[in-house]
Amino acid sequence: MESQKRHPRNFSFEFFPPKTPEGVQRLSATWRQLAQLQPRFFSVTYGAGGSTRDRTLATVTEIRQAGFHAAPHVSCVGSSRADIAETLDLYRAQGIGHIVALRGDMPSGAASMGSFHYANELVEFIREHTGDHFHIDVACYPDFHPQAKSPQDDLRNFKRKIDAGANSAITQYFYNADSYFRFVDDCEAIGIDIPIVPGVMPINNYTQLARFSDACGADIPRWLRLKLASYHDDIASIRSFGLDVVTDLCDRLLSAGAPGLHFYTMNMAGPTSTIWQRLGL
Ligand code: FAD
Repeated sequence: MESQKRHPRNFSFEFFPPKTPEGVQRLSATWRQLAQLQPRFFSVTYGAGGSTRDRTLATVTEIRQAGFHAAPHVSCVGSSRADIAETLDLYRAQGIGHIVALRGDMPSGAASMGSFHYANELVEFIREHTGDHFHIDVACYPDFHPQAKSPQDDLRNFKRKIDAGANSAITQYFYNADSYFRFVDDCEAIGIDIPIVPGVMPINNYTQLARFSDACGADIPRWLRLKLASYHDDIASIRSFGLDVVTDLCDRLLSAGAPGLHFYTMNMAGPTSTIWQRLGL
């Protein structure tokens, strides 16, 4: 953890772009509430093949117009170099200086990968096309990416993104602090010293979380799975227990020197604000 302790702490909150006018209104109330916590930035996800580009940009623009820092994500899967260049030009023209660069996942039935196979190629292209204009965040995986050939390979692939020009990283969520500590030490051993900010997923709904975790390779430890499953439909108990577990996790991470936290808010202010208050941030 030594290299991570040298970085200042950065807190950030992630949203997905809403699909309906009601969703837009709800998110507006959510980010305004979370803005009171003074995060370093907000980030807004991006659908495969640019499917949400306009909505991602609209959300980022609304937040930026109110004077806050917001970073759009950009994912390259299913896009051509020309598509990505157009998105980057659009972001730059709007005065955006920070992006989260991802490969994304191929939607089932999609015809072509597009011009990019992996996120390191996207980062390389962003640097080629826009030089040092953007601060680039990338993703990494303490529990390892489900498609990685091996943990060592995943780590080397993470390093490719940094060698291509990424400035900082946000992890996939995890519930075992030791997997983050071990991951960060392994990164340090191969010369990675950019900030690696833990991604934090508050627990609101066990069935959804289990389904999503299976798909993205985030591990829910057995004790946590069994305990959450034992509450069945008792949402209040799931949330209350989830808040205890996630607050403890954040506390351990920050006490050990993690350079901030990135909350996957799922467009809700409540769980993130409660964890924040309990941590005394
Ligand atoms: P990569 O870094 O390309 O890695 C993908 C896999 O390929 C890994 O198994 C890796 O080991 C392997 N690999 C990487 N490079 C190489 C190489 N050169 N040669 C061989 N193998 C390689 N998805 C979205 O669609 N939109 C979003 O907005 C979004 N936001 C996210 C934000 C965060 C913080 C995180 C953690 C994930 C997000 N995702 C998003 C999900 C992400 O797109 C998926 O996890 C995706 O499967 C991998 O993306 P990546 O950028 O990590 O890919």
